[in-house]
Amino acid sequence: MELDKALDLIAEVPDFPEPGVLFRDLSPMFADAAGFKAVTDALAATIGPEVDLLAGVEARGFLLAAAVGYARGLGVALIRKPGKLPRVAGRVGYALEYGTATVELPEGVVQPGQRVAILDDVLATGGTVAATCKLLEDAKAQVTGVSVVMELAGLGGRSVLEGRHVEALRVC
Ligand code: 5GP
Repeated sequence: MELDKALDLIAEVPDFPEPGVLFRDLSPMFADAAGFKAVTDALAATIGPEVDLLAGVEARGFLLAAAVGYARGLGVALIRKPGKLPRVAGRVGYALEYGTATVELPEGVVQPGQRVAILDDVLATGGTVAATCKLLEDAKAQVTGVSVVMELAGLGGRSVLEGRHVEALRVC
């Protein structure tokens, strides 16, 4: 399937999770074998050769990072929401488009000096990815870049990540 057609599978849901928010629902894309493959291949192509590890942000980032990791022969660091990990190596809180959130890094998955590429579904305000960058850099990893399926340009995520390499398959 062409990438554009795969990205067209992403649904727009008004007023979720709060009134006034237009939520991009990737579920139909994930459920479509050809669509998921097209998106995985396109994301895999955004990851440079000099990467040691992927970081996937819970929960849809897990799916993307797992698929891309398999395609590229890379492992995945699971960046988790609070309260899920038995051993926490680091924790960063941040403001979200709607509310606040925290990301946590499991112990024993990132080595100092490792080159890590971050994967997530949607880049909105950039808070999640910026917090993930801090989490990884606090662990002395080197963030090589950020790849997302969709960037919501109006929410300013790219400026929050200024100076970082950001790839988006579709900018809305
Ligand atoms: P940010 O921190 O950039 O404001 O928001 C990005 C995070 O919130 C991502 O982890 C993403 O999963 C989630 N998110 C924000 N807006 C949307 C959206 O419209 N659709 C989806 N699927 N996730 C969103």
